[in-house]
Amino acid sequence: MRYLILGGGPAGIAAAKTLRKARPDDEIAIATEEAEAPYLRPLLPDLILGDADAEALLDPQGKDLEEKRIRRFRGRAATRLHAEDKKVEFADGAAERYDLLLIATGGKPEVPPALKKDLPMIRTFDSWKDSLAIKELAQRPGAAVVYGPGFLAIEACRALRNAKREVTWIQPDLPRIGYPIAGELEASILDDVRNRGARIQDGDDIVEVRGKDAGSCVILTRRGLEIPCSLLVVATERIPSVAFLAGSGVAVGTGIRVDEFLRTSVPDVYAAGDCAEFQDKAKGALRINFGWRSAVRQGQLAGENMAGGKKRFSGNEEDYFWALFGSPLLDRVKK
Ligand SMILES: Cc1cc2nc3c(=O)[nH]c(=O)nc-3n(C[C@H](O)[C@H](O)[C@H](O)COP(=O)(O)OP(=O)(O)OC[C@H]3O[C@@H](n4cnc5c(N)ncnc54)[C@H](O)[C@@H]3O)c2cc1C
Repeated sequence: MRYLILGGGPAGIAAAKTLRKARPDDEIAIATEEAEAPYLRPLLPDLILGDADAEALLDPQGKDLEEKRIRRFRGRAATRLHAEDKKVEFADGAAERYDLLLIATGGKPEVPPALKKDLPMIRTFDSWKDSLAIKELAQRPGAAVVYGPGFLAIEACRALRNAKREVTWIQPDLPRIGYPIAGELEASILDDVRNRGARIQDGDDIVEVRGKDAGSCVILTRRGLEIPCSLLVVATERIPSVAFLAGSGVAVGTGIRVDEFLRTSVPDVYAAGDCAEFQDKAKGALRINFGWRSAVRQGQLAGENMAGGKKRFSGNEEDYFWALFGSPLLDRVKK
């Protein structure tokens, strides 16, 4: 039996390790787009702040994959799923066969058209590579602008506070996919972000970014502000990375539709983590259970079910946001 897992984040790794326990002799492979060793994405702000180094960033879950005979193909992005042939194609021209497939490709930041410019000071805030670039650019003179609706923008403001004296957070709207910070908690967090020196432009948006010279640009907002800066951090929502499923028959809404066993609409194909969307029966709505711990739990559950189990995903709201990896957001911004 050959198990193939797409995505080497917490969901993919948890699934691989669970499968290995249940299936000591089967073949298990992870193919993932990023080239780095598995790392703790929630610590990226600390990497920029200088509070965590490369060693601290490594995900302990991912340290013994080789020992457990779990193959890991790095730098391999899936471009197409041929479900009828049980085969996945990759950007490097390779193809991998599977008996059972798990899609755990997480999300990628949504970049609005006005920000899709080939300027070196525009950086998404999503990966280890992004964070090293942000850290380097943050050391340069000039102001910073953070763009995004919610949690990741708050984290980006926090990450920049040691290096940048002037930070403007442009908060265009509320996030589309759930924003559980509300009421007093939200007011407190925003106060702390302001007290740390960030100016918040809520309800505004970026309409244009103009390159000024090699190291800076000017941001024009809908309300008519012109903000010169040497760094623009795009900290937008992570939208499920599912484009490669077009034409595969796997049903996709915002994320990959899964049932309570984390099975997709196509036989022998499962999905888990930030890319999976399920029916929250209690609320009668579709939801993605974002977050590190939720991804690990979903990965474990998918692994058990792929090995023949029949475990149901409860999709508890507590597994979402409130069970975020790391300290509570309010404590982080106050620190
Ligand atoms: C800056 C930042 C801070 C965060 N802070 C927190 C926090 O404090 N607490 C918390 O709980 N959560 C936090 N999160 C969210 C958390 O990291 C995610 O919820 C979690 O990583 C989701 O895990 P996953 O395995 O589903 O997907 P991911 O971790 O996104 O991993 C998916 C992997 O799949 C790869 N991939 C994508 N597309 C393809 C493809 N086509 N082919 C092959 N591989 C592909 C990606 O490169 C990636 O390596 C943060 C996220 C970011 C970006």
